[in-house]
Amino acid sequence: MSPSSKVPFSVRDFFKRFPDDEACLTHVMEVRHGMRHVCRKCGKEATFHRMTDRRAFACANCGDHLYPTAGTIFQDTRTPLQLWFYAIYLFVATRHGVSGKELQRTLGVTYKTAYRMGQQIRDLMAKADGFEMLRGHVEMDEAYVGGRRHGGKRGRGAEGKTIVFGMVERGGRLVAEVIPDVKQATLRNAVLRNVKEGATVSSDELVSYGLLEGDGYQHGHVRHGAKEWSYYDYRHGAFHHTNTIESFWHLFKASVRSTHIHVSPKHMARYLREFTFRANHREMKNAMFDLLIGAL
Ligand SMILES: [Zn+2]
Repeated sequence: MSPSSKVPFSVRDFFKRFPDDEACLTHVMEVRHGMRHVCRKCGKEATFHRMTDRRAFACANCGDHLYPTAGTIFQDTRTPLQLWFYAIYLFVATRHGVSGKELQRTLGVTYKTAYRMGQQIRDLMAKADGFEMLRGHVEMDEAYVGGRRHGGKRGRGAEGKTIVFGMVERGGRLVAEVIPDVKQATLRNAVLRNVKEGATVSSDELVSYGLLEGDGYQHGHVRHGAKEWSYYDYRHGAFHHTNTIESFWHLFKASVRSTHIHVSPKHMARYLREFTFRANHREMKNAMFDLLIGAL
């Protein structure tokens, strides 16, 4: 598959759809309120007209001013709307995301502004993703990300790395979070928070056998330490492996290495949300952009 086949819509399509700030503001108005809607002030269904002197629309009936960006990440920004839209486009159009440096260069804004925009777009992704318990057959695995590139110990508990824990419903959604340690209670709580009772769970030996006992899961685990990568549980008809979640961690680690020089533990949760959002909505292509604008 060529990289371009992953692109939701081309840069050219983007600029055709959003040629200027005006087009972007109108789009936000259409998505959030509609050009014609029941006015919150006069209570009548009315058409709203663009005001020339401010980023607002006025009710044709009572003249009430409506600011479509109020309460969104665009509310107090001095950055042109089109740049915001383009930044959002870049976040969904690229497989690995965009670094602060890249945004700074592409948009011609300061690094501070670019960085802030990135963080706000990641929060928007979390908002658009919503929350839903995982069900069916769920794979889980932890990973160690970031920290020093050279010299550090490898494997579990390596110094300076952030511990992340991911859970993915086979054929469905993925959730991941930063966890403080790999103590049994920590892992168990993460599972209870995210996986619906009755689900079949596949893990490696870290989420040890018996840990989820009594919680209503059907739990199988592969013993990576013994070079066992998968097995079929004939009794329950479940194929246990953690390949799906491992592929996600593989992509995430590679992306963090290539795109972001350093991600502090403090910010890891946001990067995780960005990557889960893309993984969960990969099939949507064009609609991924609209989903984000719709979540403003
Ligand atoms: Zn009105």
